[in-house]
Amino acid sequence: MNKTYILPINQQELAKQLSRQSGRIYSKVVSTIFKLKQNKNIWLSKNGMEKLIKLYASEFRLHSQTKQGIVQQYYNNLKSFFNAKENQENAKPPYKTRKYNKVIYKRSAIKLKDNGVLRLSNGRKGKAIKVKAPSLTKKPKYAELIYHHNEDKYKLHITVEVKNKKIDYDNDKVLAIDLGQKHPMVTYNNQTKESIIYNGGRLNSFIRFRNKELAKLQEKMSRCQKYSNRWKKLNRAKKKLLSKSKNKIMDVLKKYASHLISFCLKREISTIVIGDLKGIREKINFGTKDNQKMHQWLFGQLIDIIKYQAKAIGIKVKFIDESYTSQTCPQCGYQHKPSDRNFDCPNCNVSFHRDFVGAFNIYKKYTRGSLDKSSRLEGVLTSSYGVKYDSNSISCLTNWNTSPFGQGIPA
Ligand SMILES: [Zn+2]
Repeated sequence: MNKTYILPINQQELAKQLSRQSGRIYSKVVSTIFKLKQNKNIWLSKNGMEKLIKLYASEFRLHSQTKQGIVQQYYNNLKSFFNAKENQENAKPPYKTRKYNKVIYKRSAIKLKDNGVLRLSNGRKGKAIKVKAPSLTKKPKYAELIYHHNEDKYKLHITVEVKNKKIDYDNDKVLAIDLGQKHPMVTYNNQTKESIIYNGGRLNSFIRFRNKELAKLQEKMSRCQKYSNRWKKLNRAKKKLLSKSKNKIMDVLKKYASHLISFCLKREISTIVIGDLKGIREKINFGTKDNQKMHQWLFGQLIDIIKYQAKAIGIKVKFIDESYTSQTCPQCGYQHKPSDRNFDCPNCNVSFHRDFVGAFNIYKKYTRGSLDKSSRLEGVLTSSYGVKYDSNSISCLTNWNTSPFGQGIPA
């Protein structure tokens, strides 16, 4: 199975130069095709075009396979035109030239060094693109440097062949997730009795920034005539803010979900249990209506990503009513609203970290049907550790068994 991952790169100026050269080659292909079609009524073959481009771009600082890749790119578009022409009279051959174009790297131009640096060659004369990718265990078979409009940045898209680990899913290993505002996820699993706390610091600061800027823009917009030039300008700024924030938040959610799924694989978890969204609404005070909508959207997305990734590898995802899960003593079942970071049970004197209590009780409710006293507790928690978002780490997992985070998953 092929998987594509997106990596941030530092060499933005170099990427722009490469993309400009790629655009020149692509445009040369387009103009040559049309000149020959017009003057001699022939479609130049791909082979002929490759030879021509080799000469044309001999001084370009691009890998020879990259140059060929751009020719290939055009001929793929041309092929779709010939296919479309059979049913569509007004189909047009790809005629648009491009100032900038993606930069294509084939296998022979890609190297994964021992120090975890991915090196993309731009020929003997060109400077290479280098990206740190410590969690890559295998060299990508294909890569593309692509411009992301919304972030005004070039990013590297890599394609890796991934072998999925086979799990015997007929087991009773369960991982419970407590969704929350301070920490988007706290998990507990009955296999190793560990708890993972996904840090919500960056996520919440993205949301606070978004809410603050949005309120400012809306306030300004309310003071000017609707559809006036100024209003339109502010509206554009608003749309940009919303899409940028959305991307940032989705990046956190995707990385956290990937980390979670790879953890489940490593622990051979067969079932993930999540408290339902209704419970979250009751549990958390979100303040403004907009902020509440924002969080509902966020948790909805997070659940969707987890469901999607879990399904892809055969892990079941179940939902349960999470009422009282954060207010019940894991040991004796006594109901008590914790007032600080700890859950100190006034009935049996046991003390737990408050965040862990929710996750454990979701697990307990799922496996035993209730939070009753009758449920006896065996060696509840062995260890807990935190996972923190890092915008520079690999966007997605390259291998289910490795972690996108520096420290990785404990063995
Ligand atoms: Zn108790």
